[in-house]
Amino acid sequence: MRAVATILGCGMLWTAGAVAQEAAPALAPAPDKTVVLTFDDAVKSHRTFVGPLLKELGFSASFFVTQLWMEDKENFMTWQDIAELHQMGFEIGNHTWTHLGLSTAERAKQLPEELRQVEAALAQVGVPKPISFAWPGNAFSAEARDVLKQAGYRFARRGMQPEVPYGKIIPGPPYEPAKYDPLLVPSTGDAYPEWTLEHFKQVVAQAVGGKIVVVQFHGVPDIAHPWVHTPPERFQEYMRYLKDEGFQVLALRDLARYVDPDRATEDPHLGTSYSRK
Ligand SMILES: [Zn+2]
Repeated sequence: MRAVATILGCGMLWTAGAVAQEAAPALAPAPDKTVVLTFDDAVKSHRTFVGPLLKELGFSASFFVTQLWMEDKENFMTWQDIAELHQMGFEIGNHTWTHLGLSTAERAKQLPEELRQVEAALAQVGVPKPISFAWPGNAFSAEARDVLKQAGYRFARRGMQPEVPYGKIIPGPPYEPAKYDPLLVPSTGDAYPEWTLEHFKQVVAQAVGGKIVVVQFHGVPDIAHPWVHTPPERFQEYMRYLKDEGFQVLALRDLARYVDPDRATEDPHLGTSYSRK
């Protein structure tokens, strides 16, 4: 893939004339006010509240699913619920079968099977193999990143860490396509129950100059995991703000419009690992 991308890149340079010596991004940068919404852990409210609201607003989003909590049918989605989100046009992404923390090489060895189990369960309800991934517990490692690459995943979202300490209500880094590896896309915001509309505005204000804001949510509400709960009325305020201010709201897979996932970067986090513990 890399060789093909290079040839295409040269073609772009040829037609672009003497604009640049180095291979510039072949794709146009993201317009200002581009936001990616992501929802983790297959919480029931993703199907009952978030999906219908986003659809009404004309927004896209990615839902990252794991089987870990699904036996609790009251608070978490079934595979059928997930299939319905797919049918509504949303992206379904992989979040591993057991919500496996992936900060070590040893854990990375379990990742192929974890990916496969989710892919198989999705296939049974007619959902195609995901191309996006969210790192469980926001832990990542070089070894697991390579497994994702080999398994055909194109984009993977990590947390705000290590740039922002866990639990702090300050904006994280926006995704800069030239800087960050597509399998280590940072969260610009990781929604906690204490978030306010003012904080949300600070997070999404970073979507300028080709930088893309990526927001991580859990349940709306999240009854089983209250530490990552977002109150529905607050969430409605956030979404109304995006709509009123003319934001473009995308799924993680839509980054392919602005980023060639096979283009090399010098991401400072490549080759490193992170774990909250
Ligand atoms: Zn998770």
